[in-house]
Amino acid sequence: MKITKKKPDSEFLIVGGGISGMAMALLLAAAGRSVTLLEKSAVVGGCMQRFVRDGIPLDTGFHFTGGFNHGLPEMLAVLGLHDDIREEEFRTHIFLADRLKKVSFSTAGVKDVCDHLCSLYQDEAAAIQEYYTVERRIFDSTPIFKLREKSLSEMFYLMDEDFITLDDFFNKENISQELRTILGAVAMCHGTPPCEVPLTTHCRISFGLTDHISRVCGGGGSFISGFQREAGRMGINVRTGVTIAECLDIDDSVCHRVRLTDGSELSFVSCVMSLHPMEMLKILPASMISPHFRSRISSFEESCGFFSLYAEITPPLPDFRQELTSWLSVCDLNKILKPGNSTESGMGIVLAHETTDDGRPCQTLTAFESMFPDETARWDKTSTNRRDEGYAEYKARRIETMKAKVTQAYPELRNKLRVMESASMLTFRDYLSTSGSGYGIRQKIGQHNLFGRLPVNNFYAVGQNAILPGMLGSMVSSFVIFRRLIGENSYWRLIEQRLGKL
Ligand SMILES: Cc1cc2nc3c(=O)[nH]c(=O)nc-3n(C[C@H](O)[C@H](O)[C@H](O)COP(=O)(O)OP(=O)(O)OC[C@H]3O[C@@H](n4cnc5c(N)ncnc54)[C@H](O)[C@@H]3O)c2cc1C
Repeated sequence: MKITKKKPDSEFLIVGGGISGMAMALLLAAAGRSVTLLEKSAVVGGCMQRFVRDGIPLDTGFHFTGGFNHGLPEMLAVLGLHDDIREEEFRTHIFLADRLKKVSFSTAGVKDVCDHLCSLYQDEAAAIQEYYTVERRIFDSTPIFKLREKSLSEMFYLMDEDFITLDDFFNKENISQELRTILGAVAMCHGTPPCEVPLTTHCRISFGLTDHISRVCGGGGSFISGFQREAGRMGINVRTGVTIAECLDIDDSVCHRVRLTDGSELSFVSCVMSLHPMEMLKILPASMISPHFRSRISSFEESCGFFSLYAEITPPLPDFRQELTSWLSVCDLNKILKPGNSTESGMGIVLAHETTDDGRPCQTLTAFESMFPDETARWDKTSTNRRDEGYAEYKARRIETMKAKVTQAYPELRNKLRVMESASMLTFRDYLSTSGSGYGIRQKIGQHNLFGRLPVNNFYAVGQNAILPGMLGSMVSSFVIFRRLIGENSYWRLIEQRLGKL
């Protein structure tokens, strides 16, 4: 690696302060490296950010996660965040709106879920068992969740199931439409339809969420405050409201100096970008981008987006429990997740306990319903708080139809929802990510995601678009690339220091 003669300002430059950028910055600093993190918004956190309405904290892009019994506690310990993140009990249901049918899931693990579904769909019990056997095998053969995996190269072996879609599996097992919808409902948590998503990708996300789903006390805010404390303690230079304007001195396919949007310059040894691929394309120097690389990025398509509604449940329900109901308009996830489709939809309804800023306990409902950009195309060129009356009317209509769908699944909530806020894909686009989609790019079969080294050879890609979307998938991408960047000896030193010897 070629290094400029003068000592660089930072060994590592991280661009993007979402969960993947924050995790990468903490890992590198914990390994004793100097780190600067650039975040173009005024605050760090990306989709982990919360906001407050009427004193009530509300989540933007992080409501629940899997992983608390599969690697997440170890990752948090390595990041120094184990005391910040407290898991809370959470349960799940699926509501099939076209059949007015609710299926509730056990919280006692995949085996219980499998047994329960076998009892509900006795004619298809063999196919259900086969699905969960395959799902577990895929998860167990995926070493990226295991920090003590000895061989990094094992992480990148393709499995037979990488070459078939979730739908191919359902077709092979001749699974009914209703059961496909139930087994595949986690597609709403990665945003790629069963006809496109590799079986491996779906199962890696689905296994964790089915086996043990949790909410985090304080939501994404607890990750952000933990990051801020650790960043301060370890001397990470966090710069918000600024990003790379131009790469300077590109030589021999590397770049060690950039000009920032505030006019200052910064030198570094390596740069990690935790951004949407389109955003990376804007930063990488045009001279280094081959037509092939550009067309690879333009071939990526976006996952679904969401229209979100935030409400307080008032008066509070007596027997309230934190939970997720996946409301699905029709038993066809391909229709629901088909871009441009505006007739069918899926909606996550999250009931949660919160505490207001003056200490009052309250109950909240966040509902996020799938949507695609064409729905708000008229207002594409406008920005938040500067949209016309038509947009306000569109949102008001959307809120009313969502409330009707929510009360279909929860009749007890009729007349109890005090709506505090709503957000379309455009709001998410303006505040959070380039496209406003829920999970970045769609994870299509045969696709070659941007992960690891980029055409500028000391630049690397991580984040939700790299391996798996979601908080955990984004964080995992940083662990994998971190290990590569600092080498095996330093990696194992940190793991043993933070987790102890095996
Ligand atoms: C409505 C919604 C609900 C969701 N629910 C869940 C959930 O319940 N559980 C779950 O696990 N996942 C959920 N997700 C997905 C999850 O939030 C994301 O997969 C994950 O947080 C992505 O993390 P990231 O670090 O890759 O990207 P981001 O969080 O998008 O972070 C990227 C950061 O980079 C910054 N940035 C962008 N461009 C630049 C630039 N040029 N220079 C510098 N900085 C830049 C952005 O401002 C942002 O802060 C949800 C997403 C949405 C939208």
